[in-house]
Amino acid sequence: MTRDDRRSAPNIYKTRIFPKYKSYTLRNFRNISQIRANFSEAELFEMEVVGNVLPFKANNYVVDELIDWDKAAADPIFRLTFPQKNMLRPEHYDMMASTLKRTSSKSEIASVANIIREELNPNPAGQKDFNVPVFNGRPLSGVQHKYRQTVLFFPSQSQTCHAYCTFCFRWPQFTASQDLKFASKEIDTVIEYIKSDPSITDLLITGGDPMVMKPKLFEHYIDEILKANPPNLTNIRIGTKSLAYWPYKFTTDEDSGLLLRSFEKIINSGRHLSFMAHFNHYAELSTDVVRLAIKRIQQTGAEIRTQSPLFKFINDDPKVWSRMWNEQVRLGCIPYYMFIARHTGAQHYFKVDLERAWNIFRKAYQDCSGLARTVRGPVMSCNPGKVQVLGVTEINNEKVFALRFLQGRNEDWVHRPFFAGYDAGAAWINNLKPAFGADKFFYEDELSAIYKEKIAVLSNH
Ligand code: SF4
Repeated sequence: MTRDDRRSAPNIYKTRIFPKYKSYTLRNFRNISQIRANFSEAELFEMEVVGNVLPFKANNYVVDELIDWDKAAADPIFRLTFPQKNMLRPEHYDMMASTLKRTSSKSEIASVANIIREELNPNPAGQKDFNVPVFNGRPLSGVQHKYRQTVLFFPSQSQTCHAYCTFCFRWPQFTASQDLKFASKEIDTVIEYIKSDPSITDLLITGGDPMVMKPKLFEHYIDEILKANPPNLTNIRIGTKSLAYWPYKFTTDEDSGLLLRSFEKIINSGRHLSFMAHFNHYAELSTDVVRLAIKRIQQTGAEIRTQSPLFKFINDDPKVWSRMWNEQVRLGCIPYYMFIARHTGAQHYFKVDLERAWNIFRKAYQDCSGLARTVRGPVMSCNPGKVQVLGVTEINNEKVFALRFLQGRNEDWVHRPFFAGYDAGAAWINNLKPAFGADKFFYEDELSAIYKEKIAVLSNH
């Protein structure tokens, strides 16, 4: 941190007491005084059972600055970061609970955990195969390319986060089972791949969370990209929850200035930098440090776009969304997406049915000015693409869901309205059936043909 940084710094610097990151996991969560004060031994055991299957990590900022311990278990940020019994189905919970009561053997506990994980639909929507491009005769692990313009890169060093979301759809990345993970260090190959396809314009650096990387290492990746200077690459995106989980990354952390200068380098190269900030609740926008961090990122010339999935117990209330979107606009951020919880991990616990999701979206939307209406939702990011729920309506006396693609494996599917039969309990695309007596949705034949072709290519390499 340079002297100029300190001179222009607001109060949190003047105290000279810069918070040091401290994580809480199964290993030490019982040391958290607020946990001991609010939960019984039986409840702590329940957290342990779930935390042995689904990734669990909180940190001192979340615990001391974000969770309202007066509400304790009912607090949305607590539910977002601490495991709860019903996040596992009863049969899975009992399997792990009886194992923990019977043995402390790490290998036995791990093998029971892996059996359960296999039943939680790890890596949904083709993340480990369908989305993986083949380049120079081999699949590019740690890279995904589902939509024409955008390539995703998963640096190995960012396959963790400052805290874990209990609903995370990338949960397999944080478990010990190697075969469930994907990551790469090969930025050169990624750059060559981007150069090989002029229709690629966007690179999304994601994880886990790329902002857990040391600024020097992040700078290395950016320098390699800018040095290679792919002419077609006009936008760089960073998918991250660091503003919500550890905003000190951009204020008082070591080398925070260096990190921000890497952002400036991208802007100075004539490219757009979009900081894809993940916020689930307005409480995550409430501290001085997050507001300062937002300002510092914006001062580099980067735009901050905000997105979040919709979850029961955390933000399934239109007032939460309108307050969050309005505050994001006030802070100069651009609301981008409301997603539907993917069918993986603890979806059974967090899911909100599609009709209710649509009503939450439109009620919140009505409570915001046009500046927040950049947001699109509710959207299922599923195997065929990003499907928006436009709403429930009636056509020829048949109650239906009106849907459309915002992104598709075939971009010609985009913005073509299509209809599914109404189902009050439907919470994901696989719960929906075509309306009007059709036996398939308009895209299904083509989707399976694309899939067959892809698997054939992958199996030849
Ligand atoms: S920050 Fe993102 S990748 Fe990390 S646990 Fe949360 S949802 Fe998953």
